[in-house]
Order: sequence, then structure tokens, then C-alpha cells
Amino acid sequence: MQALTNRSRAVSRKPLTFMESLYLPAILKGMLITFSHIFKKNPTVRYPEEKRPFSPVFRGLHVLNRDEEGRENCTACGLCAVACPAEAITMEGAERMEGEEHLYREEKYAAKYEINMLRCIFCGLCEEACPKDAIYLSETFAPANFTRKGFIYGKEELLIPHPIEEPEAFAKAKGLNKEA
Ligand code: SF4
Ligand code: SF4
Repeated sequence: MQALTNRSRAVSRKPLTFMESLYLPAILKGMLITFSHIFKKNPTVRYPEEKRPFSPVFRGLHVLNRDEEGRENCTACGLCAVACPAEAITMEGAERMEGEEHLYREEKYAAKYEINMLRCIFCGLCEEACPKDAIYLSETFAPANFTRKGFIYGKEELLIPHPIEEPEAFAKAKGLNKEA
């Protein structure tokens, strides 16, 4: 039969020597390799009890930022959505009404802001593109979910806790994240 490549090799069928036919040397050799691993450091990480430190350049789940007064930074300018190579970000802008100055920092804000975590490739370009320090990628990741819909994160999931109303949760979120 004609070979498709020249990589085929004829299998050696020479008879086993006496020592080879005992199989014991090969078994002992295999056991020695196994035994040598007993004294080596176990590389297994027992997650979630044990957590491996993230790399300083790790990019995880997004956080929508607030300022020190708790006002949302995002102005729904759309630059993050334009920069996103995966088209994972969608938003709807709205005008800030009178009396809402304590909620939103600028005259325009994102009434709806969604990121599809199944599309996202965690490249960080949205963070780079944002002129308002309104979005950044944290040192955590999206937990497993049973439905595709569960991976579409809205403002409820993305907004950082309020720094005045929930100072502990805010500090924790900030502490978990790289500089924002
Ligand atoms: S990290 Fe990258 S892929 Fe994910 S939403 Fe931001 S720009 Fe899009
Ligand atoms: S997160 Fe930043 S870039 Fe994206 S819409 Fe809001 S202000 Fe604009």
C-alpha cells in the first residue's frame, strides 16, 4: 500500500530477551519513578479552600466604578462598547434628572449596562478605552452558571457597592481589585 507520508516506521518484532520476558526490571523501574514523586512538592491546589495568588496582570470580572460620594462614574459614552472586540457590551443611556445628582456624576448615565461574559475575552480594552475611570477588570472571575442568561451581567452585578452605605463591601471590592 502506498504511504501518504514518509513518517511510517516498521515495527520491531524481535523476540524478548530473558530479562525482558520477566517484566520485573520494567515494573521496578516504573515503581521507582512513582516512588520518587512521593517526596516532591504536590502541585495540586485544593480550591476553593486554598487559592493560588493571581498574576499582577490578571484581568477578571468587570466592576462599574463609583466616585467617593457613591455616584456612578459611567456616562454611557459607549467608548468601551466600541473598543470591545467581542461586542460583549451593550448599554442604554439616559439623562440625569433634577434631584439625581447624588446618584450619577455626570448629566448622562447608563440606565442599562450589560456585559455578556460568554463573549468577553477579558482583554481589558474596555478599561483602557474608558475616559471616566468607570470600568475596570477585577481580580475575580465569573462564577459557573447553569444558564447562558446567567452570564449576562447587568448593573446589579457589575456596580461596586456604595462607599458610604456599604463601606465594608466597598473596601473589600476595592481591596480585591487592582488599582482603579
Ligand atoms: S474585557 Fe475585552 S472582550 Fe471583555 S468586555 Fe472588555 S473589551 Fe470586551
Ligand atoms: S464605562 Fe466608560 S467608556 Fe463605557 S460607557 Fe461608561 S464612561 Fe463610557
